[in-house]
Amino acid sequence: MYKVGITGGIGSGKTTACKVFEVLGIPVFYADTVAKEIMCKDAVLVAGVKAAFGNESYFEDGKLNNKHIAGIVFNNETALKQLNALVHPAVFRAFDAWEATIPSGTPYTLKEAALLFESGSYKMCDTNILVTAPYDLKLKRVMQRDGVSAEQVKARMDKQLSDEEKSKLANHFIVNDEQQSIIEQVLALHQQFLKAAEALKS
Ligand code: ATP
Repeated sequence: MYKVGITGGIGSGKTTACKVFEVLGIPVFYADTVAKEIMCKDAVLVAGVKAAFGNESYFEDGKLNNKHIAGIVFNNETALKQLNALVHPAVFRAFDAWEATIPSGTPYTLKEAALLFESGSYKMCDTNILVTAPYDLKLKRVMQRDGVSAEQVKARMDKQLSDEEKSKLANHFIVNDEQQSIIEQVLALHQQFLKAAEALKS
C-alpha cells in the first residue's frame, strides 16, 4: 500500500494535519503514541531495554520506570541513541502489524512521526510531508496547548533538527502559518496521493 510519512517540529501542526487526513478516510499511524504504548508491550523491546539500562527500567508490575530511563538518557547522547536503536525497530514492527489490519481498498496510509527523518523511517515511505510553521507561532501554540513556559518549549525545540535540515529530505510541505489554510493544503496533497497510489497499482 502507498505510504506517506508526515513530520514537523514540535507544535508545527502535524497532528492537526493528520486529523484532516483522517476526516478524508485516510488511516493514520501515530508513531510517537505507539512508541510509548509498546515500551511495556513489545517483548523484544522490553528485553533490550532491560539489557541496556538494567532491570530497574521496569517496575514489578511491568510498567516503565520513566524516571530511571530519563535520568540515564538526559544529556547523554550515546544512551539516547542506544534507546532509539531499540525503540525505532519496535515501532517499525508495530507499523507493519498495523498496516496488515488496514482494509484493502484503502488508497494510502499516513505515518506521523516526530523523528521521521532522524529514525530513517522516511525511507520506508513512498513520499513524505514536512509541516512547518513560524518559530514564534509554534512556541505560542505549544505553550497554550501544554500550559508550559517559553523556556521549556524552547529547550524541546532546540533538541530537534531544524526545518532547514528537514527540508532537504522533504518531498511535500504544509505551511501551517496564519495565512494559509491547512485544510486546502491537505486537500491538494490528498488528490496527489490518490493519483500516485493509483499509479503504483498499475
Ligand atoms: P507535537 O510535536 O508537540 O505533538 P504537533 O506538530 O503535532 O505537535 P499540533 O498538536 O497539531 O502540533 O498543534 C499544536 C497546537 O497548535 C495544538 O493545540 C493545535 O490545536 C494548534 N494548532 C495547530 N495548527 C493550528 C492552526 N492552523 N490554527 C490554530 N491552531 C492550530
